[in-house]
Amino acid sequence: MRILISNDDGYFAPGIEALAQALGEVGEVTVVAPERDRSGASNSLTLDRPLSLRRARNGFYHVNGTPSDCVHLAVTGMLERLPDMVVSGINHGANMGDDTIYSGTVAAATEGYLLGVPSMALSLVGKSPDDFAAAAQVAMELARRFKARPFRCPVLLNVNIPEGPYAALKGFKVTRLGRRHKAEPVIRTQSPRDETVYWIGPAGAAQDAGEGTDFAAVADGYVSVTPLQIDLTHSGQMPAVTEWLA
Ligand code: MN
Repeated sequence: MRILISNDDGYFAPGIEALAQALGEVGEVTVVAPERDRSGASNSLTLDRPLSLRRARNGFYHVNGTPSDCVHLAVTGMLERLPDMVVSGINHGANMGDDTIYSGTVAAATEGYLLGVPSMALSLVGKSPDDFAAAAQVAMELARRFKARPFRCPVLLNVNIPEGPYAALKGFKVTRLGRRHKAEPVIRTQSPRDETVYWIGPAGAAQDAGEGTDFAAVADGYVSVTPLQIDLTHSGQMPAVTEWLA
């Protein structure tokens, strides 16, 4: 099994190192990841300049682009054969609910999915998660499961793993995305050159974290697995908009 690995935290991040090591036990791994932290890059592609592909001493490849660039470049130009799986992560922090819209981790997996490869995004949920051992074990389990029983169609799985030891995990739960409250406002501050500058504030707290959501599963100690789709059509609103246009 050939596995393409990427992330949005950069090729040097402990999370991607743990993931590559774990999945190396299951298949043949190639790592292509951004050269710097591109968290929040969403699905952007770099269209205004060429991209460089460089190889680090540990064998990982890095690209001066976004997570989507990395997977796009690897699948359509670098790898000789289509990978059997694209795995993105392990992200340093949650990607639940609305986070998935902004996440570069989810975007890297989405790019694999859009190119016809079954893909998953993995994120470690915690205040400042630094122990990726349990999440890497989960990644290995999921990849082994996929190897034994591949999906017949491309899937896009968003996986969030609670922080803590592997033994404390209660198992897998298939979930839907929850919702967060509106994001916190920007933070206004003065630069050293006395300009007013703004930091994008933190994401909002969970609003819909009810039964069945990714938030609820992780809070209960489960690994949350959400199958995602990309069609943004709001089918339920089509009649109302049709009426409005009449
Ligand atoms: Mn990130």
